[in-house]
Amino acid sequence: MKAIRVNENGGPEVLSYEDVEVPEPGPGEARVRLAASGVNFIDVYQRTGLYPLETPFTLGQEGAGEVEAVGEGVEELSVGDHVAFAGVMGAYAEQIVAPAERLVPFNVTLVEARVAAAVMLQGMTAHYLTHSAFPIEEGQTVLVHAAAGGVGLLMCQLAKMRGAYVIGTAGSEEKAELARGAGADEVILYTEQDFAEETKRLTSGEGVHCVYDSVGKTTFDKGLDVLRLRGHMVLYGASSGPVPPQDPQVFNQKGSLFFTRPKLADYTANREELLWRAQSLFTWIGQNNLSVRIGGTYKLSEVDQAHRDLEGRKTTGKLILIP
Ligand code: NDP
Repeated sequence: MKAIRVNENGGPEVLSYEDVEVPEPGPGEARVRLAASGVNFIDVYQRTGLYPLETPFTLGQEGAGEVEAVGEGVEELSVGDHVAFAGVMGAYAEQIVAPAERLVPFNVTLVEARVAAAVMLQGMTAHYLTHSAFPIEEGQTVLVHAAAGGVGLLMCQLAKMRGAYVIGTAGSEEKAELARGAGADEVILYTEQDFAEETKRLTSGEGVHCVYDSVGKTTFDKGLDVLRLRGHMVLYGASSGPVPPQDPQVFNQKGSLFFTRPKLADYTANREELLWRAQSLFTWIGQNNLSVRIGGTYKLSEVDQAHRDLEGRKTTGKLILIP
């Protein structure tokens, strides 16, 4: 089968389209023939080595497809079932072997396989951020950075579902329009305007209850300035680079702020939580209450272009690969 291997860390050019052996499922595992794989920013961090993995490895950790073989002891899945997953390495490939307990069944007549692949990682992220890391209460105001991105568009929709007043940021007017379409009440063009000043103006000087920051280096410090007393800073990414070490005293001086740096794996730590988040998303999609924007579809062999576009801030919504 074909797979995208990383033999050494580096730029998009290190993504190597290779023949590898079809893996066999061991006890408790299943092999899935992938209909689509998701591209995520974490794939960039793993490709460059910012998040180190031992090379060589097959990149990608999200996808959806059909079960084609099951290992010993797997009872809850059968050949032919449609399943989706996130957080299992090796998804930039035609087939993947995954622990059965990480596979979430979906009804392919209600949710297309591409959409299932597109929503697992970014959708469950938006779910845990809005429901658990900082569980939004009706009437609260939140700031969502990169609101037209993959996670961003889903964040806008889920934050609205929970009753928030949503201020987004985006890098262009076209992106701002998409964020508004996803429910953002206001969108600040943070490449042209000072988002801290604008956020204060939009909140009559009060600031927001929570900043959801995936951009990191270029937005973090100012984000602390737009939080109201005892506000929450949820830093969940580093699209512009990592945030340098912080002095805890700053959180005291700026109003007894809360800070967390969460990750999806810790919010889908058991099967019950994984199914709750994923099946909630599939239900909302089936009811037309959640829209998943696939902003780019690439052949598996063209994954280098997908990475260039994602890193180059050229993309909106989700990028997927078709084997
Ligand atoms: P996005 O689709 O959001 O793409 C990144 C966006 O970040 C760009 O489109 C751009 O939007 C913005 N951005 C701002 N500055 C830069 C920069 N210097 N270089 C590149 N992009 C920049 O990606 P994803 O939705 O896949 O991921 C969003 C973030 O969320 C990532 O940082 C990712 O690591 C993180 N994440 C964290 C998870 C967790 O559990 N902790 C899980 C999933 C994702 P614009 O032009 O509008 O500024």
